[in-house]
Amino acid sequence: MAWTYKLRYTKCGKRGCNVCSDGPAHGPYWYGYEHVGGRVRTKYFGKLPPGAEFAKQTSYDERYARWEYHGKMSFPVALRIMGFENMPARSALIKRWRELVSAHHPDIGGDTKVCSAINAAYTFLKQPWG
Ligand SMILES: [Zn+2]
Repeated sequence: MAWTYKLRYTKCGKRGCNVCSDGPAHGPYWYGYEHVGGRVRTKYFGKLPPGAEFAKQTSYDERYARWEYHGKMSFPVALRIMGFENMPARSALIKRWRELVSAHHPDIGGDTKVCSAINAAYTFLKQPWG
């Protein structure tokens, strides 16, 4: 399996670290992600390996997902969380869900709230509509 590369900021965990408290933390550094047996494996690369393909940024509003989703899902909220303006094709929905979950999974330092919002939005949108 090929690695997918993404830029991430990382928190060092040191108390009183100015870089972590004043900004988005250290970095950005390149991390590689790989799906192995249904799990996401992550590896620090630092520099992007030559010739590597990096993941496209998704139009995903993390702040919206985290703060506006309170357990009640609606059509516009679900679309916004998934980064769509209109109802996507089923294949596009599944592809976006995989991208978002692999980018925000708690196993790779993602936010649990964001991940559950993504899953709730996906579950809502994959219902048979019309
Ligand atoms: Zn730090």
